[in-house]
Amino acid sequence: MSDPPVLHSRRSLTLRFDIPISRTHEFWDALKEGRFETTKCSKCGAVTFPPQSDCPRCMSQEFTWTSLGTEAVLRTFTYVQVTPASFVENDPYIIAIGEFPGGVKVLAWLEGVQREDAKPGMKLRIQARASKEGNPYYVFVLA
Ligand SMILES: [Zn+2]
Repeated sequence: MSDPPVLHSRRSLTLRFDIPISRTHEFWDALKEGRFETTKCSKCGAVTFPPQSDCPRCMSQEFTWTSLGTEAVLRTFTYVQVTPASFVENDPYIIAIGEFPGGVKVLAWLEGVQREDAKPGMKLRIQARASKEGNPYYVFVLA
């Protein structure tokens, strides 16, 4: 039995993301100023991250902004040896889950720490960065 016929295509892909942020732009504005904020439901009090314009617990659309601070604790991490296509220009990296006071957990890259040195319980700090396109993003570093 022969293999089914296939068409091979080898092309570089440019990924373009247009992410609507009309109801959560305050998060990005605060991040540009080094503050790390998220949404708190005005009805049930749920604090969520990433910021949510619709409460995942009670579906309310009323919310306020609350600061998460900048200090977190490393809860777990993974070392990404084989990078996905969209990060092919990056060296292997660590993705961490940090827990902020109050229990909110955030997923972010962990910079400045070698894989063998990363340990759950380490104190982390969230830091704002800007991509080469000028878009804000955030990473964890050691506190
Ligand atoms: Zn709610």
